[in-house]
Amino acid sequence: MLSLWSAVFVSLLLGQQPAQPPQTPAAPAPPPPPTTGRPPTRADILRGEYGRYRANNDLLFYHLDVRVDPGKKWIGGKNTIRFRMLKDDTRIQLDLYANLNVDKILLGTTPLKYEREINTVWVDFPQPLKAGRDYTIEFYYSGNPQQGGRFGGMTFGKDPAGQDWIYTACEGQGAAVWWPNKDQWRDEVESMRISIAIPSALVDVSNGKFLGKTDLGDGYTRWDWTVQYPINNYSVSANIGNYVHFEDRLDGLPLDFYVTPGNLEGAKRQFAQAKGMIEAYEHYFGDYPFAKDGYKLIEVPYSGMEHQSAVTYGNHFANGYLERDWTGVGISPKFDFIIIHESGHEWFGNAVSAADVSDMWIHEGWTTYLENLYVEHRFGYADALKYVNGYKSKVRNREPIVTQRGIHRSPPQDMYFKGALFLNTLRSVVNDDQRWWKLLHDFFQHFKYQNILTEDVIAYFNAQLGAQLGRDLTPIFNQYLRRTDLPVLELAFNQSEGTVAYRWKADERDFAMPIRVGTADSWQVIQPTTDWKVMKTSLNKDTFDVATDLFYVNVSKQ
Ligand SMILES: [Zn+2]
Repeated sequence: MLSLWSAVFVSLLLGQQPAQPPQTPAAPAPPPPPTTGRPPTRADILRGEYGRYRANNDLLFYHLDVRVDPGKKWIGGKNTIRFRMLKDDTRIQLDLYANLNVDKILLGTTPLKYEREINTVWVDFPQPLKAGRDYTIEFYYSGNPQQGGRFGGMTFGKDPAGQDWIYTACEGQGAAVWWPNKDQWRDEVESMRISIAIPSALVDVSNGKFLGKTDLGDGYTRWDWTVQYPINNYSVSANIGNYVHFEDRLDGLPLDFYVTPGNLEGAKRQFAQAKGMIEAYEHYFGDYPFAKDGYKLIEVPYSGMEHQSAVTYGNHFANGYLERDWTGVGISPKFDFIIIHESGHEWFGNAVSAADVSDMWIHEGWTTYLENLYVEHRFGYADALKYVNGYKSKVRNREPIVTQRGIHRSPPQDMYFKGALFLNTLRSVVNDDQRWWKLLHDFFQHFKYQNILTEDVIAYFNAQLGAQLGRDLTPIFNQYLRRTDLPVLELAFNQSEGTVAYRWKADERDFAMPIRVGTADSWQVIQPTTDWKVMKTSLNKDTFDVATDLFYVNVSKQ
């Protein structure tokens, strides 16, 4: 309605008849299409659904206390799990991969019955557990963990000198690949203790603050760590090797680095970037979110992973990503991609977490945008703009970024690059950098240590920006995150009138987004909707430009 009237108004101002749109207006769009992915399996549902026996309790504390035998590629021990019941019930759902043994599960001294189904362990209690009460069970297990997945799950390997090197990275498979836990994304444990007993010649680096090590007298030494913040299950990590350690501080924050002896010099040179990284992210979002646990970088043979307060690193001690120019525009050789990206997840992924893998753009889209903020802070706006636009070559636009909930279906790679380009577009929509910086800071602080969904992000942005912008931002978020195609700015030039008609072609009928058009040295902001409007212009089809480096859109001219 508004846009129809404004089109008429503009036309009247121009002293013309309302312009005839070159095409009929778009019909109301159907709701976002259902997923195009394969149907889920029972295993997917068990992994992804926040069902009754997960939702009936709230995790409070884990103590993972295990022994790792490199020779036998074996792990065994227990996880002590404390949880609060939210409803009266007699069963809870935990998870442990089917190839690992459940040795026993105890409530006090009482052995509990359990039933195994694929990688789930249904734990039954003889009497109903009462809502509001806290319970502690001990889950004993053992076996030979599977190796596989992108970064190995739990890998028993060797370092270049032939020493044992054992490491875990299990975001895809889930933490149940190597230890028993409530393996889902919605409920993070509030705090955790990690105790790993290993042959005494080796070092274990896990998450959190190092408490100390204890010689067990049988050739093994136990390394104890305490995690003093909520943590995702998949972020829990053991890194066992012949590590050497060096340290630094950033103001009061301890920075600890662990590498194999041959890489000590390279690490001292390369890991100096950690300080500038933390300073940049603190500039935009506030203090490093896990200060009591410190910040660590730990060498591993795979490229890297954002384990909370214990980021693992395998980027060859060189700038770029595995010595390549990551976005192909000459910017990423200025910094170490893995230090900058994986550590960015301390803010988005670890502190602000998605509550379902369907919404993982909250980790990856945001952290990819953080790389861009790092570039802007360190190297300036021109480099940042170049860097973020380098992502366009990586976007496919084949399926929506947000996937179906409850089936643990990882979103497509677009969640990284299209996600970051979308956030860069939002900055241009806000068109007021001071407001944008405050919004980013406040958004992070508001959701720090929470597990959220896309709806929470949209509601927050609408509450902060809706009044200023005079519009509901939901259709913009939906078009970029829940639809496949980019919005297209349709431009129809009328040379004899000296006008151009314009509108958005988008799946969201209410899609309305301002954009800069005209010429780069004097952009004009227009407010297209999905209905036609007409404006006067002295430019023609060839000279009329659109700021597609600030707004990630397609343009169609006729
Ligand atoms: Zn990432």
